[in-house]
Amino acid sequence: MRMFIGIPLAEAVVEKLETVRARLYRRGDGLRWAARESWHITLQFLGETSAEQYACLVTNLGAVRMEPFVIGLDGLGCFDRAGVLFVTVRLTPALTALQQRVTTATEPCGFTPEKRAFAPHITLARGRGHDDARRLSALATELRRPPQFSPFLAEEFVLYQSFPGPGGSRYERRERFTLNA
Ligand code: ATP
Ligand code: MG
Repeated sequence: MRMFIGIPLAEAVVEKLETVRARLYRRGDGLRWAARESWHITLQFLGETSAEQYACLVTNLGAVRMEPFVIGLDGLGCFDRAGVLFVTVRLTPALTALQQRVTTATEPCGFTPEKRAFAPHITLARGRGHDDARRLSALATELRRPPQFSPFLAEEFVLYQSFPGPGGSRYERRERFTLNA
């Protein structure tokens, strides 16, 4: 199973993102736009996960303690090399704390924390090739009035299973972990 851990978005955020996407989307732009059902904030990518590891994750993630906290979203951004257009998620102490607690919880299950700095984001679109990086970064700066997102209260995080497919991956929510002190 291909798994990752993430935070799902509040419905109001999804609605707002939908209007942003509509302003950016061009028919035939060749980009792979993520389906709205798949929008999320990744906390940790786990990759291939055995049944044993899955059971370990359920136990250890269930033991993570954290109060619900507010998540703020900023403007659009782009990872040039990866060819990803995204909405920037504000890196607050609470979000950092949750990400650290999650990666600490998964370590005994055989997952290694990434060395790269945590750069929380919501992926909107991916390019297919080299040329797309420029178009993605142009999109990130295109809107004359940058989108203003209302903050939302994160009340859970989720263990997702990813099913790769030709049109992009489809995610299924496998386990939900409610934030509660
Ligand atoms: P596709 O790989 O088909 O383009 P995807 O990236 O959405 O689709 P997955 O590769 O299964 O699907 O990734 C699931 C989530 O984990 C996504 O948020 C993705 O950005 C993130 N992710 C995937 N691989 C890594 C990685 N090596 N490091 C960090 N995050 C990753
Ligand atoms: Mg991927």
